[in-house]
Amino acid sequence: MRLGALEAGGTKMVCAIGDETGKIFEQVSIPTETPDITLPKLIAFFEGKGIEALGIGCFGPIDLNKNSDTYGYITSTTKLPWINCNIVGAFQKALGCPVGFDTDVNGSALGEVTFGQARGKNNVIYITIGTGVGAGVYVEGKLLHGMMHPEAGHVLIRKRSDDEYEGNCHYHQTCLEGLAAGPAIEGRWGQKAVELKDRKEVWDLEAYYIAQALVDYIMVLSPEMIILGGGVMHQEQLFPMIRSYVKVLLGEYIKTKEIEDLEHYIVPASLDDKQGIMGCLELARQALA
Ligand code: ADP
Ligand code: ZN
Repeated sequence: MRLGALEAGGTKMVCAIGDETGKIFEQVSIPTETPDITLPKLIAFFEGKGIEALGIGCFGPIDLNKNSDTYGYITSTTKLPWINCNIVGAFQKALGCPVGFDTDVNGSALGEVTFGQARGKNNVIYITIGTGVGAGVYVEGKLLHGMMHPEAGHVLIRKRSDDEYEGNCHYHQTCLEGLAAGPAIEGRWGQKAVELKDRKEVWDLEAYYIAQALVDYIMVLSPEMIILGGGVMHQEQLFPMIRSYVKVLLGEYIKTKEIEDLEHYIVPASLDDKQGIMGCLELARQALA
């Protein structure tokens, strides 16, 4: 089965041709400019490749309600030229094949659940901490959409008293994204996150904020595994620090085999940064089915 996959991001669009086993035959990356410039380039990549369906994992917010007039649209994004872009419609029209559509982070969650370390689990959260923070939520064997889709990167966080940074989320100031995404780290410490590797206090505060969010996700969604990806999580020293804060913040309240073994519960992404694009292959397969 030949399938198309598109991981649509704010800075780049990753396009691939692959199959239902997650194998990728061909992959390119195209910079994200305006829809007028970028969509024709994406369509040109997929045309004539014999794909039976396309799966798109997209930055948001997006409209995932199949009964809505604007299903398949990017809605109120901060990437202004893409507001009200009918991305699904554009590919359906040009390629004439079924198009699966979900958030980029739901795509990554699906990749991990279908092809990665979370295979066989029914309740998994995938969180990316990069330019923004987002979470894909897989519950009871399905990606969670609800009213729209989760926006769990914007959960509100209790600031630590020694942190003087005001937060930089345009909507909530001190939500998780406003306090802990890459740009917030840079804003607080005045240096690029990658250059702060040896500053223990940077990662201690970062781990504290991420742990607060994880505790909320654990309490609300009862996940069987929590996977952390994105540029900031390349700082591997964060993992043990996050696990210790989660343990402290949970306060012995939850006693399960997962919580007793946090090393296998709060884990890095497992597919060499291909979890997103592989998840899009599975979105394509599901659209065909
Ligand atoms: P995006 O979120 O735009 O898709 P990334 O997940 O790579 O892309 O996230 C980019 C953000 O992650 C930037 O703010 C950058 O400072 C930060 N970042 C990238 N690599 C690292 C690293 N090795 N260590 C810490 N922060 C990083
Ligand atoms: Zn926010």
